[in-house]
Amino acid sequence: MTIDAHDLSGRPIIIGAGIAGMMTALALAPEPVVLLTKAPLGAEASSVLAQGGLAASLGADDSPTLHLADTLAAGDGLCDPATAKRIVEAAPAAIETLERLGVAFDRTTAGMIRLGLEAAHSRRRIVHAAGDATGVELVRALATAVRRTPTITLLEGLEARQLLIEDNAIAGVLAAGSSGDVALMTGRVVLATGGVGGLFHDTTNPLGSFGQGLALAARAGAVLSDLEFVQFHPTALDGPTRPMRLISEAVRGEGAVLIDENGFRFLKDLPGGELATRDAVARGVFRHLAKGHRVFLDARERPGANFAARFPAIAGFCHEVGLNPALEPIPVRPAAHYHMGGIAVDEAGRSSIAGLWACGEVAATGLHGANRLASNSLTEAVVTAGWVAASVAETAARSCRPSMPARIAPRPDASSVRSTVSRALGVERNGDELRDAIAALLSLVSNQDAASDPAAVGLMMAVSAVQRQESRGAHYRKDFAQKAAVARRSFISLDEAIDFARKLTDEFPMQLARSA
Ligand SMILES: Cc1cc2nc3c(=O)[nH]c(=O)nc-3n(C[C@H](O)[C@H](O)[C@H](O)COP(=O)(O)OP(=O)(O)OC[C@H]3O[C@@H](n4cnc5c(N)ncnc54)[C@H](O)[C@@H]3O)c2cc1C
Repeated sequence: MTIDAHDLSGRPIIIGAGIAGMMTALALAPEPVVLLTKAPLGAEASSVLAQGGLAASLGADDSPTLHLADTLAAGDGLCDPATAKRIVEAAPAAIETLERLGVAFDRTTAGMIRLGLEAAHSRRRIVHAAGDATGVELVRALATAVRRTPTITLLEGLEARQLLIEDNAIAGVLAAGSSGDVALMTGRVVLATGGVGGLFHDTTNPLGSFGQGLALAARAGAVLSDLEFVQFHPTALDGPTRPMRLISEAVRGEGAVLIDENGFRFLKDLPGGELATRDAVARGVFRHLAKGHRVFLDARERPGANFAARFPAIAGFCHEVGLNPALEPIPVRPAAHYHMGGIAVDEAGRSSIAGLWACGEVAATGLHGANRLASNSLTEAVVTAGWVAASVAETAARSCRPSMPARIAPRPDASSVRSTVSRALGVERNGDELRDAIAALLSLVSNQDAASDPAAVGLMMAVSAVQRQESRGAHYRKDFAQKAAVARRSFISLDEAIDFARKLTDEFPMQLARSA
């Protein structure tokens, strides 16, 4: 690839080409933009893996008010109600926008959009495509639209390594690819880099999703929010494949139940049973596994013989490992799946740094609170990409001449932090493990090597988790099992996390050394 960076100077740069990045680029057209992605378009993105679909109140028995109530209940007191209301109200129009862009959603024989049910939704409101291959269809249609849009300059195989800053505002992006390094000068950058699952051993996310956008923003000085809240999906296919294959909640929505090796339905007394919120089901599965049991999703009775017709993609990868879900229970375990936290953004997707926006999973809009309601993330990505695009479009381009670093940051690699993050920031947490993790991660953050950025993200998550001395939504502390009376969102910068970690390691050096 030969890039004349000068030619692209001043254009908004969107980093990441999942659903959030592609929708932002499409919504900005015909303004010329640069869409930069480290993988080929649509690959190495959670978007293409999405199964269940997008939540939108389209049913005759449904309304944005009901969708909002379910979202707030799942969020366990920590949602921003005004943002959540705006997003669920915009959801039906977002589905129309996607259809206009060529996404073919599943329809009933009468021609109506077919609506699925997922955990903690009080109504059928999950819009899906190709049964359980919603992400594949979304990415197919949006990638086609992107390639057809002449004003989108697509740079594939380029990894953003650093945001350049001038007078406390964004002034450019340093990126690296197989043909060398590139400096792109711009005062407008949108981060759409996805989640953090790749920081964990057990994850449904692409392994390249390890929070690079969070590191880029944090190193530029941005404020991040709610980083301690990681959603663990209760039913990832238990096997050696990484990312782990997901057995969508929609399968439980169609009647499948969780059993152990004795056929015992161990969650039947949990309020809501297998369709309780994800955090509750994930903890139930985690604890049953911790007692030495195996856990299976039993779809033999329901959806039973219809399994392959309703869930062709899941049936396909079950068959790859020699399982027929209509006849055999599927072995499952929890896996890191979705990050509620992210770059703190306002109602237009603006971060605390002038010229830096964020949308999709990397952003924390306040929609999800302490626990995301299933299928709200794709909806949020589509809706907020439109708001970000509008805000970027009304922000004037400016000429930028930032000072350049002596050398570009090395290619980040999360492999050396995965054990620490998985141990301390899993389904159940406790203060001692979090403090040990903070000490271990702090020692990696300043090395300026491949582990530094993933360690910085893990450190900010661990500091946020140790500071939240309560259990709420997806954040469960064994040493603080109760919920605090008042729900407060958390906000943190990298400097604050490092300061906190230094003080902690000064305060507890003996204890940390003993447990090392
Ligand atoms: C298995 C699975 C199933 C899911 N099912 C659903 C569902 O049914 N409904 C729902 O609402 N949500 C679902 N989710 C969550 C949802 O898919 C994600 O939250 C959403 O797709 C995130 O979109 P995104 O555009 O923010 O990020 P992604 O789709 O992850 O895209 C991120 C992009 O950023 C690029 N990138 C990252 N870092 C850099 C860098 N430094 N430089 C350049 N490029 C970079 C990546 O290569 C990628 O292109 C699911 C997630 C998974 C993993």
